[in-house]
Amino acid sequence: MILLDGKKISDEIKSEIKVSVEKLIRKKERPPHLAAILVGDDGASLTYIASKIRSCDQVGFKSSLFRYNSDISENDLIKKIEDLNINREIDGFIVQLPLPKHINEQKVLLSIDPRKDVDGFHPTNFGKMALGLKSFIPATPYGIMKLIEKYDIETEGKSCLVVGRSNIVGRPMSILMSLRGRYGNSTVTLAHSKSKNLAELTKKADIIIMALGIPEFLKYDMIKKDSTIIDVGITRVEDKSKRRGYVIKGDVDFDSVSKKAKFLTPVPGGVGPMTIAMLLQNTLDARL
Ligand code: NDP
Repeated sequence: MILLDGKKISDEIKSEIKVSVEKLIRKKERPPHLAAILVGDDGASLTYIASKIRSCDQVGFKSSLFRYNSDISENDLIKKIEDLNINREIDGFIVQLPLPKHINEQKVLLSIDPRKDVDGFHPTNFGKMALGLKSFIPATPYGIMKLIEKYDIETEGKSCLVVGRSNIVGRPMSILMSLRGRYGNSTVTLAHSKSKNLAELTKKADIIIMALGIPEFLKYDMIKKDSTIIDVGITRVEDKSKRRGYVIKGDVDFDSVSKKAKFLTPVPGGVGPMTIAMLLQNTLDARL
């Protein structure tokens, strides 16, 4: 089994980004600037934002965090976004999801200027991506495509099963794998909670991308020998023996699946770090 080392590849990508930033600085231009909006104090969201900010520091980006209480109104939040849309010092920004229930997520995402939408969630970017045009690609699917490219995994004519149809992972992933291109051209099936006989689908797939959020869901007897398995899942599972009180689990039963798969991503250290690297890449592209 070959481990798809997202940590190593993301470090390489970050080094390349750092070189581009240094070139900007040498030309006396300002570095890229990523801003993040965080509403409320959800523990996982705080962790993700902290690691995005740390990564900005690593590559020489400027970063800003705008934090609001969870009772901020939808209108007030949209006003903050409109301020960022016209702020010339900020190249791209993200609104950390999920948002509190009283805020309409789609309305908020629609208010982001697509030119600064480095998460690639705005319909303009999503539509361009679906048409195979240049756009900001959502960071997680973009990171997975990069991993596939870096390990030169054969995708043409292969059967690819994506499990999970969220707008941020599963659905864009299914589109990217079906597009024309060296790393695309797959025959894609998109499964979700209403899909029947999932194990029959997983057993037939050459490539499986798991993005459902159920720890260790995919087991040894559900996959084909020598398949490629990409694990997007991140779930905190209570573990009192750990200092933090939990461990992070992916959607794949790593120990058993690693005995049968050809390529496999670990959790942590697989898709997670790639997601952050591609967010940085999108921000650099927004600056240039
Ligand atoms: P969502 O909860 O938005 O979507 C989950 C999807 O899984 C839904 O489409 C749902 O179906 C489907 N699903 C749920 N149960 C089953 C089942 N039993 N069989 C088949 N499909 C099922 O999750 P996200 O896409 O946002 O995230 C998925 C996982 O990836 C999470 O663990 C999340 O933490 C992680 N994640 C990791 C990232 C990274 O950087 N590594 C980035 C983003 C997310 P339905 O639509 O019918 O409800």
